[in-house]
Amino acid sequence: MKRILIDCHNDTAYRMYFENTNLFSNNLHIDINKQKKFKSLLFYAIFLDPDYIGDSIDLYFYNLYNNFFSQLNLNNEHIELVKDIDDFLINDKQGAIITLEGGNFIDSLEKVDKLMELNIKAVTLTWNNSNKIATSQMSGDKGGLSKFGYNVIDKLTEKGIIIDLSHISDASFYDVMNYTKKPVLVSHSNSRKICDFPRNITDDMFLRVAQNGGVVGINFCCDFLGENPNVDTIINHIEHFLYLGGENHLAFGSDFDGISTLPHGINDFSSFDKIIEGMLKRNINIEIVEKIMSKNIINLLKTIDKI
Ligand SMILES: [Zn+2]
Repeated sequence: MKRILIDCHNDTAYRMYFENTNLFSNNLHIDINKQKKFKSLLFYAIFLDPDYIGDSIDLYFYNLYNNFFSQLNLNNEHIELVKDIDDFLINDKQGAIITLEGGNFIDSLEKVDKLMELNIKAVTLTWNNSNKIATSQMSGDKGGLSKFGYNVIDKLTEKGIIIDLSHISDASFYDVMNYTKKPVLVSHSNSRKICDFPRNITDDMFLRVAQNGGVVGINFCCDFLGENPNVDTIINHIEHFLYLGGENHLAFGSDFDGISTLPHGINDFSSFDKIIEGMLKRNINIEIVEKIMSKNIINLLKTIDKI
């Protein structure tokens, strides 16, 4: 029986589209071949890169989405879109969840209906640019969630779509947390206490996510990890969040294929077992390791689906 591993953020769909490559075997960080050691469920982001969007954000979105979907269909003996987590847990295929990275696609509330029809399971409200919904952390823009943003939160909640707060400004983060009653995802952000990088979250932010029943995914981006990043540096962030009482609120959000350099010792998705072994070597007990590997995200998906 393979171990279950859930990774709640990658940019493989974006890279596959622009590099015209496939999901079964490629030169990227993630393909089906590289997943063999695990039964894995990966969150594939449709990343709306403002530098490439051109005239029509809708056209850009559908190009990426359709391209990814056709790769899922081509490889359907190995991988399937996961609509119900219980179905995923009882079959032996790899799983895919599709997310949207960049709320700039949402220019009206009707777009949220569209996202639900397209089985988009989570939406990162902003990327590094601010948009109609909220301000982004890397933009340096002041202000938080807009009036439209509050309406978007309501609509996403009604449609059972998870709100992902990676990339959002600190002010917008608190606006969302003070408003939403549903558990959030912070899919790819680390500890600002361990590595003082603005895309990471403070202890207080982490505690708010824990109180809310949400989950934070650990990012492998070197800038988010600290100096000379390696497997141990990744685990330092995990240990810090565990120290804050976060065993039920931690997951992985590698950002594979969204990051150009990888921590020492990590080559691609197939290196994931080194992190798991490293956690066990540092005496993180197996129950907690399994929560981080999969159970916390399984709980989040079940909670959201019940809403
Ligand atoms: Zn990102």
